[in-house]
Amino acid sequence: MTDSDTDPTPEALAERVRAGEVRFHALEEHADPDTATAARRLLVEEQSGASLETVGEYAFDAAAADPNIENMIGAVQIPAGVVGPVTVDGGAASGNYYLPMATTEGALLASVNRGCSVIDRAGGATARVTTSGMTRAPVFRVDSVVEGEALASWVRDNGSTLKDAAEETTSHGELEAVKPYVVGDNVFLRFRYDTKDAMGMNMATIATQAACDVVEAETTASLVALSGNLCTDKKPAAINAVEGRGRSVTADVLIPRDVVEERLHTTPAAIAEVNTRKNLVGSAKAGSLGFNAHVANVVAAMFLATGQDAAQVVEGANAITTADVREEGLYASVSLASLEVGTVGGGTKLPTQAEGLDVLGVRGGGDPAGNNADALAECIAVGALAGELSLLSALASRHLSSAHESLGR
Ligand code: NAP
Repeated sequence: MTDSDTDPTPEALAERVRAGEVRFHALEEHADPDTATAARRLLVEEQSGASLETVGEYAFDAAAADPNIENMIGAVQIPAGVVGPVTVDGGAASGNYYLPMATTEGALLASVNRGCSVIDRAGGATARVTTSGMTRAPVFRVDSVVEGEALASWVRDNGSTLKDAAEETTSHGELEAVKPYVVGDNVFLRFRYDTKDAMGMNMATIATQAACDVVEAETTASLVALSGNLCTDKKPAAINAVEGRGRSVTADVLIPRDVVEERLHTTPAAIAEVNTRKNLVGSAKAGSLGFNAHVANVVAAMFLATGQDAAQVVEGANAITTADVREEGLYASVSLASLEVGTVGGGTKLPTQAEGLDVLGVRGGGDPAGNNADALAECIAVGALAGELSLLSALASRHLSSAHESLGR
């Protein structure tokens, strides 16, 4: 801030932008963040004719959002609710949880809540994080495949040098692997890190830059881009479905036949048939990466409620649902291959999102580090399983449209 002593009003600050004395995106250099935000709102209202009265009524200091946004004008408020409580028997999560969700989709929480109550009647769901690792894959230019192979060999022989360079930049992150991919005169190095309780995209990017500096100093390869899209972040990609990214997490439940019949008004066989024909055959025919009914709904709503990066719903919805008839009733599972979640960093510090994490008891760093993000992943997986059970059974019992009608949506 350069001239805060003058304590400008939003109106005076906006006038200075109109006069060309202050830049629209640099208002925070001339006033406190809330005043700068109010001045920007005035300018946008004037230019667009929109009233931003409600957008301007936010419940936190604009300073708290400084690391999360530029050109701030206020906050969008999304209705938040909970489903559950549901019992989770996880590797990190253990107990009875309300799951926080933020959405504008009517009927979603009612549906997931129904799934949670069925899971609870069945004694709860089991969940486990099976692999964990955030990836960044820079692309290098080499002269030929001979040089490409030489770089791949150098990387395989110098893992500890790359690990030392990368880990110099972080006190929590650990470089676990670097996998080379050669495509003509392009070499992609896919770095994978244990980022503990951080989602880890910034951490991995900074650490990978340090490792790339060593690669360039020690080999003939030239770095073209720190992200070469083989990572793959925020794009649908088979590599994430196969190799995982962030947390790979699975939840399952065995529901007694009588609970399926009484609570879901259908049978294990009917649910299993819908799952096979819709989630497996239908998805295969469509060339879909997601073999599930609506995992994205739960992932998106829980991401918004807990401060995750919303664009990573793309990878988070990369899930396979199974449903099988067993002697005792219905066995159902959901496996999310690439759920990128954190309980520190990013949007998790924003006050309402931090409260969302508090509902699950996973705000901040875990003990041991990584435990809180694992627990969050397991809770999201159980929420996704509840959502799948409810929607599959609504389809199996042909109640889907009547359920939406009765809720008026
Ligand atoms: P971050 O906010 O950049 O970093 C979190 C930091 O928290 C870590 O670097 C770590 O510091 C510290 N920390 C404290 N306790 C920790 C614990 N228990 N476990 C792990 N770390 C702990 O967050 P990030 O998770 O690395 O990145 C998330 C952000 O990246 C989001 O805002 C997301 O929108 C954004 N993003 C960035 C890119 C990109 O390419 N840069 C791409 C997509 C999204 P130390 O490292 O010093 O240990």
